[in-house]
Amino acid sequence: MREDLRTVERVRETTGGRMVIMVDATQAQSSGNWQPGVQWDYKRAYDTAVQLERLGVYWLEEPLARYDFARVAELNRAVQIPLAGGENNRGLHEFREMCTPNVYDVLQPEPLVMEGLTGLRKVGLLEEAFGKRIVPHHGGGNIGTVATLYLVASWPHAPYWDVLHDPPVAPYENRFAIFTQPPKVGKDGLVKVPEGPGLGVEIDPGMILPG
Ligand SMILES: [Mg+2]
Repeated sequence: MREDLRTVERVRETTGGRMVIMVDATQAQSSGNWQPGVQWDYKRAYDTAVQLERLGVYWLEEPLARYDFARVAELNRAVQIPLAGGENNRGLHEFREMCTPNVYDVLQPEPLVMEGLTGLRKVGLLEEAFGKRIVPHHGGGNIGTVATLYLVASWPHAPYWDVLHDPPVAPYENRFAIFTQPPKVGKDGLVKVPEGPGLGVEIDPGMILPG
């Protein structure tokens, strides 16, 4: 835990308050008992959440197991920092169960996991009705990510657009290289929604491997 908190402190020091910081505990990656890396129990999740709150972190993501809805809701009642999660949850019914009781404050439905963009649109309406925030996850990184941009831009309860960006190994530009004129994220973290027909992006045929 000390090492985790030190990491967040170093990010804060380096960015000098210019960036909003979210922390992902990735405790809901496994659907069962097995979990890669360090496995958190309730106390570890609670103690970490309290410290992250002190550091001004925007959200704590996936603090406990994927289907441990009751305990996540218990943690949510006990701490002030918003809890986020749901990137591995499937179907509208799971998101409905996460709204009552109050499991997460910010839902992160992933269209690759839960019935595509049609499912994502339904969850968007559900979360708006429950007064929650939504920040869709998109692990695909290219066309689907642009599709989520349109939904995020149209949802008053979607404060962020989530893009996989891990420079220098995997900057988001790599997966967007499939487009002739890819959307660009500015230095301020803002992005302009493409205005062309359809999704507003065109695929460069030269980037498609012959079948
Ligand atoms: Mg995550």
